Amino acid sequence: MAKKDYYDVLGVSKDASDDEIKHAYRKLSKKWHPDINKAPDAEEKFKEINEAYETLSDPQKRANYDQYGSAEGAAGGFGGGAGAGGFGNFDSGGFGFDDIFSQFFGNRQQSADPSAPRQGRDLQYQMTLEFEEAIFGKTTRIKYNREAECQTCGGSGAKPGTSPVTCSRCGGRGFVVTETNTPLGRMQSRQTCPVCHGTGKEIKEKCPTCGGSGHVDERHEVEVKVPAGIDDGQQMRLQGQGEAGANGGPYGDLYIVFRVKPSKVYTRDGSTIYVDQKISFARAALGGKIKVKTVHGDVELKIPAGTQTGTTFRLKGKGAPRLRGNGNGDERVTVTVTTPKTLNKEQRIAMEAFAKASGENIGSGKGASNFFDKVKDAFDKK
Ligand SMILES: [Zn+2]
Ligand SMILES: [Zn+2]
Repeated sequence: MAKKDYYDVLGVSKDASDDEIKHAYRKLSKKWHPDINKAPDAEEKFKEINEAYETLSDPQKRANYDQYGSAEGAAGGFGGGAGAGGFGNFDSGGFGFDDIFSQFFGNRQQSADPSAPRQGRDLQYQMTLEFEEAIFGKTTRIKYNREAECQTCGGSGAKPGTSPVTCSRCGGRGFVVTETNTPLGRMQSRQTCPVCHGTGKEIKEKCPTCGGSGHVDERHEVEVKVPAGIDDGQQMRLQGQGEAGANGGPYGDLYIVFRVKPSKVYTRDGSTIYVDQKISFARAALGGKIKVKTVHGDVELKIPAGTQTGTTFRLKGKGAPRLRGNGNGDERVTVTVTTPKTLNKEQRIAMEAFAKASGENIGSGKGASNFFDKVKDAFDKK
């Protein structure tokens, strides 16, 4: 794959501010998210957008990219952890939950001050639901790994009783300026401070639990109330259930993306549920009550005499709940009139009598089969 210009990918100018880049990224990543966008190239685009953002959102990588057309060297290559890692892998395992994670919206807005509080990363969780579970909702608990604030040091990274001090190398600015000789003259570039890694704080005595990072890995468990009427591809945000922030910033959020398994009986479009119902040609001709499956249980449906195959009936309120609003959608029942493949003697006599009463000349043998073809034709017509 030929690398596209990162600025073009995000649709921003070369001198775009960090905010403009972030804004463009959020907009595009939502638009091209493979859960939302079903275009065949959505996943590819989404990866491209993430790759562009990964470089342009990082001052160091962006500087390298502007100068050399590549962020390589600083970043150690693309396509690794961040961004689209978990997408495209929607197989459900076990009892219907996927434990697939990926960074969702990447890092949030970062202040120029490296010691300012920053919100933690958002996480994404894929939850697979049975068809009926999506319709009726359920309460469940999920477990996943996340970075949590270290309890020993309260997130500071410093050994209890000590505190981080202003970085001696960069004076708290978080970056250092280096000069290099190039054929075009001396060039200045900003590098993230190698001592404090951009935080501006230096930890002299590291916290023994987290080793100075302020974060620890934790297996986190949270209760999820799946709303009744959720549909495939929709998502839900759980505030503060993402990863721990930096410098005392708040936790990020958890996005739960729902996948709904198809049903063998029903199809669904929003709050409307569709079902196909077979009826005999006698029932179609004479009319009467039939039993129809709905997700709310079997119901009786009265069909009029002379019902044709392909006719659709509406069962009000027997569909899926509407997520925003009151009540349920409808179920739509489409009837198919079936022709018997074989007839016993009694049925044959009755059918021949029927044909005679209809003024059709039915003989035995070949004639009879012609007759059934006609019956079939009559009932197969829409
Ligand atoms: Zn700690
Ligand atoms: Zn420093």
